[in-house]
Amino acid sequence: MSDEVHEVIIIGSGPAGYTAGLYAARAMLEPLMFGGYMSGGQLMLTSDIENFPGYPKGVSGPEMMLHLREQAERFGLSIQDKNVERVDFSERPFKVFVEGEQFLSNAVIISTGAEAIWLDAENEKAQKGRGISTCATCDGAFFRDEEVLVIGGGDSAMEEATFLTRFASKVTVLHRRDTWKASKVMLDRANAHPKIEVRPFRQIKTWLSDDNGLTGAILEDPRDGSTEEISATGAFIAIGHKPITGFLEGQVETDDHGYIISKEFTMTSVEGVFAAGDVVDTRYKQAITAAGMGCQAAIDCERWLEENSH
Ligand code: NDP
Repeated sequence: MSDEVHEVIIIGSGPAGYTAGLYAARAMLEPLMFGGYMSGGQLMLTSDIENFPGYPKGVSGPEMMLHLREQAERFGLSIQDKNVERVDFSERPFKVFVEGEQFLSNAVIISTGAEAIWLDAENEKAQKGRGISTCATCDGAFFRDEEVLVIGGGDSAMEEATFLTRFASKVTVLHRRDTWKASKVMLDRANAHPKIEVRPFRQIKTWLSDDNGLTGAILEDPRDGSTEEISATGAFIAIGHKPITGFLEGQVETDDHGYIISKEFTMTSVEGVFAAGDVVDTRYKQAITAAGMGCQAAIDCERWLEENSH
């Protein structure tokens, strides 16, 4: 067990974490990152990123994560691809527990992101990234003039459906009930769109596919179990995200959905603990906004350390 006290430990390795690492390294804070077993975050699941400025021909998610990682490492970010099991923020230096080892740090930046919730319907795992997506902004343009499904009855589903009308010839929204979490304005907008059909009481029983990818789904009416088949080459699951904050065990204030609440700029309810990216972001959820927040968190952290150095 080392009693070395790091200046800053970064937990999580998506665009927010790597950008925080880059800035903290360039500020000579010698940051240590725990990137998780599946380092890179959500973008490791994305095929093409076409909306990140600076890549005129687009870039694959994994390639961009590799670039961010290499860039941060060049300036001295030290990365361990391990999961943080728990933390103790009750006193400083803070304690971070990783695979039975304890690490000490004067400051912590949390950038563990959020993961989309999947339906886990039959045949879903095999079709992930092969027609079934959880991000219309990322993958919608691949379905030009094709018929797609959107699953969910909240604002995300309505927003995804409306966005997808730019590309798809038809968008069918499937929701398991006939009451909606979506706001009236967004539901009305979807209902009024000539390309969108909204169908309540329909849930996915089985995804259908052939060698080329998704072909449709068998739908079930939860009221009586009756089934029908629907054709589609793309499907977008929009039933919510869950932030990855379980390892914090409530030591940092979160909202009802588990998203970390920022108190002063990027600082959390615990002084010296900062958060950036999807783990705080209930609104934008983009790689570029996460990267921007990672930069902000590193700058806030550097200033806080300067003011609070012993
Ligand atoms: P919500 O929790 O609001 O809605 C999730 C939807 O998915 C619900 O209709 C729910 O159905 C359905 N659902 C959940 N689990 C399943 C399942 N296993 N099978 C089938 N359906 C399921 O999440 P959102 O992501 O839509 O929104 C999250 C927050 O973000 C909200 O506060 C929302 O207002 C906000 N937001 C705002 C936007 C905007 O204003 N532009 C855009 C996007 C989100 P049921 O109702 O039956 O539980």
